[in-house]
Amino acid sequence: MLQKTHSFAGLLAAEGVVLYLQPSPVSWESAAALLIGCLAGPLADIDKQGSTMAKIFFPLSFLLHLGGIRHRTFTHSFLCLIGLGLLFTSLPPLLYWSFLLAYASHPLIDLLNEQGVELIWPLKLKFRLLPKFMAIGTGSMMETLFRYGLALLTLALPAYYVVHSLPTLPGVLR
Ligand SMILES: [Zn+2]
Repeated sequence: MLQKTHSFAGLLAAEGVVLYLQPSPVSWESAAALLIGCLAGPLADIDKQGSTMAKIFFPLSFLLHLGGIRHRTFTHSFLCLIGLGLLFTSLPPLLYWSFLLAYASHPLIDLLNEQGVELIWPLKLKFRLLPKFMAIGTGSMMETLFRYGLALLTLALPAYYVVHSLPTLPGVLR
């Protein structure tokens, strides 16, 4: 998937965390969590030479390259996710879960691609959710549609929350 698709998935994951954990979702903390979501979504592609994430985190991506880490292996695995989970335990829960779930959204939606993901790296087993003929090709029209779907959800989720929380907000409809 393209970086912008992963950013929408990361944003959606962070929105879910914000709406679940934040008593007042409109705050600086929430904004920080959403920004983290947008950035953590595409982060796993740091393993892909030439990707924006590889350029931003150049020393780290170079080290991965030197270590022979191929695309959609270590950084897309449960092992990496657990490692990041242990590394960032000192973050406040809102930022921690926004980062972690946004990061996890990446290998999750890459499972819709036909190339598959080595989720249980270092075992070289590739996982894929869809049969090849239905899989979403990177940069394809299907991916564009999928991204529009994600974008709609990023609007629908807060809208749903607002509509359903209105009667409970103090001074509203009372
Ligand atoms: Zn990826």
